[in-house]
Amino acid sequence: MDVLARLIAELGDAVTADPARLAAVRTDESGFLADGTPLALVEAQGVEDVQATLRLANEAGIGVVARGAGTGLAAGAVGDQGVIVLSVAKMNRIIEIDPANELAVVEPGVINADLDAALAPYGLWYAPDPASKAISSIGGNIATNAGGLLCAKYGVTREAVLGLKVVLADGRLLETGHRTVKGVTGYDLTALFVGSEGTLGVVVEATVRVLPRPGGDVVTIGAFFPEVRQAALASSAVVVARLRPAVMELLDGQALEAIREYLGDELIRDAMGPATGDGFLLVQFDESPAAEKVLHAVELLEQAGGQTRVSTDAATGEQLLGIRRAFHAAPAARGQVLIEDVSVPRSRLADAFDAIAAVSAQYGVRIPTAAHAGDGNLHPNFVLDGGAITPTVRAAADALFRAALALGGTLTGEHGVGILKRHHLIDELGPDSYALQRQVKAVFDPRGILNPGKVFETTQ
Ligand SMILES: Cc1cc2nc3c(=O)[nH]c(=O)nc-3n(C[C@H](O)[C@H](O)[C@H](O)COP(=O)(O)OP(=O)(O)OC[C@H]3O[C@@H](n4cnc5c(N)ncnc54)[C@H](O)[C@@H]3O)c2cc1C
Repeated sequence: MDVLARLIAELGDAVTADPARLAAVRTDESGFLADGTPLALVEAQGVEDVQATLRLANEAGIGVVARGAGTGLAAGAVGDQGVIVLSVAKMNRIIEIDPANELAVVEPGVINADLDAALAPYGLWYAPDPASKAISSIGGNIATNAGGLLCAKYGVTREAVLGLKVVLADGRLLETGHRTVKGVTGYDLTALFVGSEGTLGVVVEATVRVLPRPGGDVVTIGAFFPEVRQAALASSAVVVARLRPAVMELLDGQALEAIREYLGDELIRDAMGPATGDGFLLVQFDESPAAEKVLHAVELLEQAGGQTRVSTDAATGEQLLGIRRAFHAAPAARGQVLIEDVSVPRSRLADAFDAIAAVSAQYGVRIPTAAHAGDGNLHPNFVLDGGAITPTVRAAADALFRAALALGGTLTGEHGVGILKRHHLIDELGPDSYALQRQVKAVFDPRGILNPGKVFETTQ
């Protein structure tokens, strides 16, 4: 059967095989480039387009790669030889905001920040806040169970998803979950789809929980430490003291060096004064924190060796956060990087930084690192001196994954497995869980057409 001709006959202008458009979906923000070229790009306008695409692909046994905004960092939305890339970016309507039940119903292509802006007039807020919130889609956030800066206090995407509409591999439309606060009928298929990276179905609608917008004043503490280990120990001390900041972010010396070069020294001096060091911790409390809480945090940071600066005005707080926000752009401005994403128990954060230093020294690779210290999620950026991921960089990244697992951590805190981490999946899951997960995949997708080669290696 000529699948492309049938796609065009059924979906018309929504289908393109333009080489430039196909080339663009061979990659995502991970920088991974697929060897082959997809058969077609379908830009779905509605649920029926998604159903028609999947029906046809299932019949023909052709792979379908769901794609949101393409900002993923695990190569999950990358289209390889002969597959159909199914973009839901144009399905971007906010269908309903229901203040009485504190929920919103959205199509998957809605950009995270756009939902948040639409909620603001109601005094409501969508809490999941990946650093990519201005460019990533709710569907992609759900498919990767995205995290962000506020997770330790407000949770990750999974906590915000009440129900889904999902098109299954054979084109059937499935509804999961509920609009109620509680609901425990049957297995929790909603939770199963969250984080499934397009391997179990294509999300075409989401009912999400929204929260009252946090009010009151924001207090931000910036602290420089002589060594990153001290900054990490200070963050663990804040956790142990149950102070529950909204944001707690950490930068190591190499990250600071890149950010200094990128933002300019004055900007950091403006926000932090003359203090400097090889570790920077930013702690932000929202909702007008009690003065004792702030003082307690300052005391803990200083006991750990930090030079602190407290800001009670929102503008300086933003300036301090701006130092952290520059982390993605700063190392990238110096050349290409492999952005990694491991998580460790929060009490092991200092050990994780030791492990990064050891891997960096052993393999001779620079690894500037930022961490969402409030939840133990680290983003080591491997600097690619020649612009490509060499076997040495790959070996260094593998050594780091092993170190994270040995610390009781996990291969990925928020970016997902995609292609880049699939060869390590069995190491973390173990053979029984791995086999069960493959069986679950086969129940939802018997012909293996949904995002083939992602999460699980096709050969295993
Ligand atoms: C500068 C920058 C900062 C970032 N910061 C963060 C961060 O703080 N936290 C974080 O978690 N991530 C972060 N990311 C990574 C990325 O933004 C997230 O993974 C995001 O959730 C991906 O959304 P997307 O719409 O771009 O999805 P895509 O990249 O298009 O897809 C990602 C995965 O989801 C699947 N998918 C997409 N839409 C659907 C759908 N409707 N149904 C089923 N499967 C689907 C794809 O097949 C793929 O496997 C960052 C990325 C960048 C570039």
